Amino acid sequence: MENDFNGTNRTGFSHMPENPEFIEEMRQQIKKNFKYAIISAPVIFIIIIAITAIVALKQGSSVGEILLVASVLLVIFIGIAFGMWISLLKDLGRLKKDAVDGTVIKNKKWHSLSDEKKSNKKKYLIVIRSDEGKKIKIKDKKAMAFHPYVNEGDKVRYHPGYPFPIEIYDKSKCGTNICVFCGAQNTLSDSKCQRCGKPVLM
Ligand SMILES: [Zn+2]
Repeated sequence: MENDFNGTNRTGFSHMPENPEFIEEMRQQIKKNFKYAIISAPVIFIIIIAITAIVALKQGSSVGEILLVASVLLVIFIGIAFGMWISLLKDLGRLKKDAVDGTVIKNKKWHSLSDEKKSNKKKYLIVIRSDEGKKIKIKDKKAMAFHPYVNEGDKVRYHPGYPFPIEIYDKSKCGTNICVFCGAQNTLSDSKCQRCGKPVLM
């Protein structure tokens, strides 16, 4: 496939995301994740109801009280399933949106002291300013994959809808090609991701 960086130095943006097969890979992954979630939700629901009922019966609660708790839980679960469905439609819709070119204006890593766990949690934030002046924030796990490889001022492309949505313009400088599907680091000569086997941006 033709790209902006024909040759070996891998500088430039890939034309891969315009490829219908590439978009189809992502659509399949989003649908698969959704299917797993939809199958596992009722199983989790039944387990929670069963545990609640056993505990409640041991404590002498009436069947009526248990049914009440069960219906409240059911409403919560239907709400969660509905939310997942909406986010599926949103994700699928985003894939059709064009990529956004911009510059990294912030690449931050800090520790947050969580009171509940009393543990140090690392937080990550990357902010991109698009060429049109819009700010795009990428947080936590997504930002963590790119943190060591981008610097403020670097030219990047943002791919809406993908789990790891940043494409680095000068891949030869950072020496790695990060998979937009799973966030794994690949060498510059890989055409398929070493971890998930999906095509990488090249
Ligand atoms: Zn991958």
